Amino acid sequence: MQNQNLTRRQPTANRIRQVDEKVKSVKVALEQINVEAAARKAGVPSSTLRYDLRKLEMALPQILTNQIPGPKPVEPASVQPTPVQGNRVCSECGEKVRKNGRYWILNWLLMLTMGWLGIQKVLVQRYRCKACGHEEVSEQRAQQAKAREAWWQQVNRLIGLSRFKLGLSVRKTQILVSFVYVRQVSVGHIERLSKRVGKEALGVLDKLKHCRQRVAEFLLYDETFPKMSKHLYSLGVAICENGLIRSVRCIKQKAKDIPAQLRAVVGEHFQPIYFLTDLDVLYQEYLKRAGLSLVHLRDTVHLIRQIIRLFEEAVRDVKLDVPKNLSIKDRKHQLQLKRRLLWKRLQPLLHLVFKAFSPGYESVCVLMLEGVVSQLQDPSIIIQTASVQTLAKRLQRFINKHGKTINLLLQLSIEKGTPTTTNALESKNSIFKPCSRIAKFFPCLEGCESFFAGVALMENFDVKTRGIHRQTSAMQRAEINLEDLGATDFFSAVHLPKPQISLPDVTNQ
Ligand SMILES: [Zn+2]
Repeated sequence: MQNQNLTRRQPTANRIRQVDEKVKSVKVALEQINVEAAARKAGVPSSTLRYDLRKLEMALPQILTNQIPGPKPVEPASVQPTPVQGNRVCSECGEKVRKNGRYWILNWLLMLTMGWLGIQKVLVQRYRCKACGHEEVSEQRAQQAKAREAWWQQVNRLIGLSRFKLGLSVRKTQILVSFVYVRQVSVGHIERLSKRVGKEALGVLDKLKHCRQRVAEFLLYDETFPKMSKHLYSLGVAICENGLIRSVRCIKQKAKDIPAQLRAVVGEHFQPIYFLTDLDVLYQEYLKRAGLSLVHLRDTVHLIRQIIRLFEEAVRDVKLDVPKNLSIKDRKHQLQLKRRLLWKRLQPLLHLVFKAFSPGYESVCVLMLEGVVSQLQDPSIIIQTASVQTLAKRLQRFINKHGKTINLLLQLSIEKGTPTTTNALESKNSIFKPCSRIAKFFPCLEGCESFFAGVALMENFDVKTRGIHRQTSAMQRAEINLEDLGATDFFSAVHLPKPQISLPDVTNQ
């Protein structure tokens, strides 16, 4: 702004005088002062007066610049004590404050702005009250204190990013910080911070159900087995159809911990209707124990996998009904041949199963599966050996068991665009897996749980740069009311705010 004033020219007769012009004339006037005489008259040492005059001279450009009209810019609130200004008086007793030596301190300002320079020190003037001994905070010291606070805030954010987004270990995080700032932070600090952030993240995840949000009808649940503490426990992960991770929990006793997690994830603003899982038979039981009456649906990928398994079993269970006097080698050969033949016969039917589950066939999927069963039972299509008959029976049982929910699942996916697979969940699990290499060093269950909560929260706020959800985060897709949540991003959610330092704080040396 000053530069603007310096260069502004007015063509009128009453032209606005340039600042440097004004400064020059006042400087000439200042030079006329007999400092010795003036100091004598004022009763101060001439060196002091000369110092003050020099300060006045330096401040001339600011003083002589025309004030910009309009409201003053709002100064950011500062928690620092007001530093010593021109007329230095003690804030305790009101007496005069005098210079009292100089001392070296770390130059936090440089560390914050140009950390790669390495450790820099700066000489600071101390001011002390002669009457009561109180040390007044100099402007320079206040600025350094602000920079120090800002430095730590920025470093803590870097640690948060390193631990929960990049998945770096404590030691690697230490290396990263010292690369950026050529200054070590202790392993203890990184560990304590990770623990604190994790705990906060756990709290934020727990808060999700109390926030206003888009109605979510699906609860997807899966257990993942990152290598944690010698497989003593697994990680239970719950998301909704928007891909928002709503809960992570270390599972030690399935029968107790999974129902507790399911109970805890549901709340005021998250009342799912459908429960989508893999084929684990115990989920129904867990639901009941959690006191939830959700419609239990099964992931189509697992359903298809189950059917493939039935087909494979049929091929494996082929029996040879030839005379037993055949040599072992010949028997083996014959069995192989028979298996290959059966597999060839079954393959078109299996392809029919795949087709049934593919897009466009949603309304006839179960009908097509029924068709496969009747083809399996048709002697003109396939020879009715024992293993084929068993396969037909098992597939029929499978349809009886899952037919209704398959129809519902596929119908919902057409009508509401809801998921038919737990793929979204499994891709989340792939985020946790690499982190488990670090997490295994957490000896306790709580530590592990909070660490993964941090990873999950970071993922929830992560704006995707590619894929179908490009440019949105799970929080946005789930339309979580951030006001209710009380945070706008990962860092503010876990109380790692941006450094509260303004540009003038940094540049006005
Ligand atoms: Zn004092």
